[in-house]
Amino acid sequence: MQLLEDRILRDGKVKDGSVLKVDSFLNHQMDVKLFGEMAKEFYNLFQADKVNKILTIEASGIGIACITAQVFDCPVIFAKKTKTKNIAGEVYTSKVESFTHGVVYDIIVAKEFLGPDDRVLIIDDFLANGAALTGLADIVCQAGATLVGAGIAIEKAFQPGGDLLRGQGMRIESLARIKSMSPGKVEFIH
Ligand code: 5GP
Repeated sequence: MQLLEDRILRDGKVKDGSVLKVDSFLNHQMDVKLFGEMAKEFYNLFQADKVNKILTIEASGIGIACITAQVFDCPVIFAKKTKTKNIAGEVYTSKVESFTHGVVYDIIVAKEFLGPDDRVLIIDDFLANGAALTGLADIVCQAGATLVGAGIAIEKAFQPGGDLLRGQGMRIESLARIKSMSPGKVEFIH
């Protein structure tokens, strides 16, 4: 998506070789108009898939997921990150290793919000090693729901998550796919 690529080139900042900071428009300050254009793109890609729930993970996926859910006219659920040890049976739970913080945490979704009748589109801001997406897909599977695919804003295609999960049959649509990056330089795959 040209608009997103242009914005990454203009305002993105590469840190330590593998982390792209997009705090000025995507995951701290949020450009909602840009999100609207991204949501339309996700709708074009998944409109035939009868999506009735959007699933994301707190915190930075929530903004994009909400705007996308508005276009799909369906609710959005965000998986909560929790440190609670003995989680009651009323939630689906999975484990995710954080790319940016390096810790493993549990994510939970209340069973009342996801079930076998649901057709789920996962939305997230980044795809790196694929841990967040794997955890969310696990929750969809536990619920007996149908995963129609994942819509990602920025895929760092030089990291293994995209290839790994596509190899397992997951449909992943990324609006910007980064081939390589270094301070002051970002290259995309088209
Ligand atoms: P994964 O689980 O695929 O390794 O990483 C995905 C999650 O890590 C995303 O939800 C995102 O919050 C975070 N993340 C991964 N890479 C980056 C990055 O380069 N920049 C930022 N800002 N977040 C990232």
